[in-house]
Amino acid sequence: PVILGIESSCDDTSAAIIKGDTILSNVVAGQKVHEEYGGVVPELASRAHQQNIIPVVHKALKDAGVTVSDISAIAFTRGPGLLGSLMVGTSFAKGFALARNIPLIEVNHLQAHVLAHFIQEPGQQHKVPEFPFLCLLVSGGNSQIVLVRDYLDMEIIGQTIDDAAGEAFDKCAKVMGLPYPGGPLIDKLAKEGNPNAFEFAKPRIPDFDYSFSGLKTSFLYFLRDHIKEDPGFIDNHRADLCASLQKTIVDILMEKLVAAARKTGIKEIALAGGVSANSGLRQAFLDGQKNYGWNIYIPKFAYTTDNAAMIAITGYFKYLRKQFVGQDVAPFARMIL
Ligand code: ATP
Ligand code: FE
Repeated sequence: PVILGIESSCDDTSAAIIKGDTILSNVVAGQKVHEEYGGVVPELASRAHQQNIIPVVHKALKDAGVTVSDISAIAFTRGPGLLGSLMVGTSFAKGFALARNIPLIEVNHLQAHVLAHFIQEPGQQHKVPEFPFLCLLVSGGNSQIVLVRDYLDMEIIGQTIDDAAGEAFDKCAKVMGLPYPGGPLIDKLAKEGNPNAFEFAKPRIPDFDYSFSGLKTSFLYFLRDHIKEDPGFIDNHRADLCASLQKTIVDILMEKLVAAARKTGIKEIALAGGVSANSGLRQAFLDGQKNYGWNIYIPKFAYTTDNAAMIAITGYFKYLRKQFVGQDVAPFARMIL
């Protein structure tokens, strides 16, 4: 089958074409309007999606070299995400399915982040995780450890009780006066700094769950105290602050992942979500491979942040199982795995 995937859960409008499990195109239109607000403004996001969706789909078709009549089914993100944003993608998909008389497939955005590992590039097959595997899903809105038994059979065995890891990066970056989203900037600045320069308290949370709100607060107070003595503290120690903060976040993430791997006896370990771009986290995965004999899987960067390729691959697996939905489907902002 040739499947058109649509993603519009947050601030990226994306369309992708997949043939079987091989990706033919993946077009993403980001939204610059949010930068000056230091975060995504939902109303502005919905409007930008409306402007972007048709051109993005056109480009995805063109890049893939297919026409609308080649499309076997359309898959879209039903949730979780911003309701207004989801509404745009959902309405487009419903209209497209109706007009073309093809099946409509709803996709859970989180499941799609995990299944991004199964996207194949034309002419080169890469190794995919074997079931069961553990997936550390870390993004702007999520931090969880997912036990993946099969393509469509997943269970969250640990998750954040407050902020997500990406949020921790972004909020701490904001405190340091860095623009949004601060995660990639912290990563870049951390490369020049000493990860052991400063120490920040790690949360004590039971089982495989996470917490990041305490770190954000202690980071804020830490800066406030030091700025009292040295007004230029942030500027003078920016790289060390970033490196130490990054190390703390990565340590917190890895501690629970290592514990989950030990408890379940699983050595197939995958990473997903936008924070998987982080170089410290990638290095920690490589260390896990060396120290614990893990087989690690890290997707291509383009498939870790929000993209429609992951929606299309999920649509493919649901297509094979004939998991279609009707025209009465509505977006579900708080959809869970
Ligand atoms: P969700 O998928 O939960 O709805 P989202 O769509 O906002 O959330 P993604 O697009 O998957 O999340 O990831 C964006 C997040 O990843 C941001 O918080 C960003 O700061 C973070 N991020 C991206 N690159 C890096 C990096 N190199 N280091 C740290 N964080 C990063
Ligand atoms: Fe996402």
